[in-house]
Amino acid sequence: MEKHIWNGPPSPEEFQRQMAQFIKQHFQKPGVQPSEEVDHAGVSQEPQRPPRESGFQFDKTPREVKQHLDRFVIQQDQAKKVLSVAMCDHYHHVRQCMDGRDTQNYSKQNIILIGPTGVGKTYLIRSIAELIGVPFVKADATKFSETGYVGGDVEDLVRELVRRADGDVERAQYGIIYIDEIDKIASAAQGTGRDVSGRGVQTNLLKLMEETEVPARSPQDIAGQMQAMMEMQQGGRKSASTINTRHILFIVSGAFEGLEALVRRRIRNTSIGFGRAQGGAASENCLEEVNTRDFIEFGFDPEFIGRLPVRVVCQRLGKEDLYSILKNSEGSIIHQYELSFSAYGIEVLFEADGMKRIAELAAEEGTGARGLMTVCERVFREFKFELPSTRVRRFSVTREVVDDPAAGVALLLAEHEHSEVAVGRQLVHQFAQRFTETHGIQIRFSDSAADLVIEKARAAGQAVREFCGNHFKDFQYGLKLVSQNTGNLEFLIDTSCVHAPDKVLSDWVVASYRSPIS
Ligand code: ADP
Repeated sequence: MEKHIWNGPPSPEEFQRQMAQFIKQHFQKPGVQPSEEVDHAGVSQEPQRPPRESGFQFDKTPREVKQHLDRFVIQQDQAKKVLSVAMCDHYHHVRQCMDGRDTQNYSKQNIILIGPTGVGKTYLIRSIAELIGVPFVKADATKFSETGYVGGDVEDLVRELVRRADGDVERAQYGIIYIDEIDKIASAAQGTGRDVSGRGVQTNLLKLMEETEVPARSPQDIAGQMQAMMEMQQGGRKSASTINTRHILFIVSGAFEGLEALVRRRIRNTSIGFGRAQGGAASENCLEEVNTRDFIEFGFDPEFIGRLPVRVVCQRLGKEDLYSILKNSEGSIIHQYELSFSAYGIEVLFEADGMKRIAELAAEEGTGARGLMTVCERVFREFKFELPSTRVRRFSVTREVVDDPAAGVALLLAEHEHSEVAVGRQLVHQFAQRFTETHGIQIRFSDSAADLVIEKARAAGQAVREFCGNHFKDFQYGLKLVSQNTGNLEFLIDTSCVHAPDKVLSDWVVASYRSPIS
């Protein structure tokens, strides 16, 4: 029993703590079964369970989910596959429950993601949440404490889902909760001294991962609690009272330093036991072979780890991968820079050797793809400061610029007229290249046509890319038609075409009907 000794009036923090505890004891009913929950007028209140007539739709296949991920996340192929399957299983199951099918024996596909920082763990999950259209919340396990007084209360995560779903409790109930740094709350073997608290947080999380009802208002939210009390006293029904966690998907992640050694040791011991050669192939990527016992030895409670049946390993990213992220990912940071410079009417062109150099420097940072942001921030600081107040309207990012951004800016300012035209031409040719890649029909600009495009773009006060997109917007359909009729897959854009694109295109289309392929 706790002893109560009077030491004068409590501090404001202590008062708040006691108040919260009082409210927790009096107004929150732990373990109350849904059907027992009764409001002040004795009217039984149904908690917010996912209703049967739900608007929740999900009809994706794992391959479709993976294809979506491939657009954004580079590498991590195995992780993408396993996640796609687990996510589809989970959300098809949710839908089956909505349809009233019996899914008693289904165990939820909660996931552990293992991998170093900045390799796309969060990005994968966020992209999936966006694809499916469910709310997503991320937090660090280290921010929670067992009691919720110091640090957060794990139940806050569930309430946060409701906030992310714009107050829609039903949608929040199919949301995704992502908890990073979960390895930091493992106890035992790691000797982190966090045993008690870590274990307590594991237990609290376990409750959420199993099915529970979380009060929609935090017991710590005194104002909210007061308001709820007043609503009750005034005879109104409580607004959404609880959130059911049955269909909420939990994903935990961490770098799990030391886990690989544990797995390797176990594999080695087993190999010896079976008289096999030591080490061998098993020692490479051995994290893929991690099992429940390894996690327990690492310091997790068996019940906790048992609730996380899907294990996914994300690999470290090398400089080639980082280059590919810059060049190919739809979420590449390059687009962010293009956008922020375009706010000043400045176009930036990333050359292959410039991107390669950024990737090399980023790899040296050792923080995965996060290194790309660090390097880009350093490289473009000067450009962002200087260029908006000059007449420079475009520039390209080469290896030299990345290595010495200050010199790059100075050179640009000195030679701006000349480099304007050169970069402008490259932008026109890049437009042609992207057109070719996207539509499978090759277009090429003559030099004088490219110069005319730059001139017209300048006169229109538009960026070259934007101008090309508008000026030649009907070309993808028109040229497809022409190529279907004539078999021709290559087109030269000359100055007449730049002067009157619609007329030239329609002449080509008309002519193509006159001389179709036989
Ligand atoms: P973590 O693995 O630590 O969760 P994140 O997923 O948050 O790392 O990655 C940080 C950022 O780096 C992402 O928002 C994304 O822009 C980029 N990124 C990381 N990994 C990849 C990847 N494999 N492919 C494309 N972009 C990535």
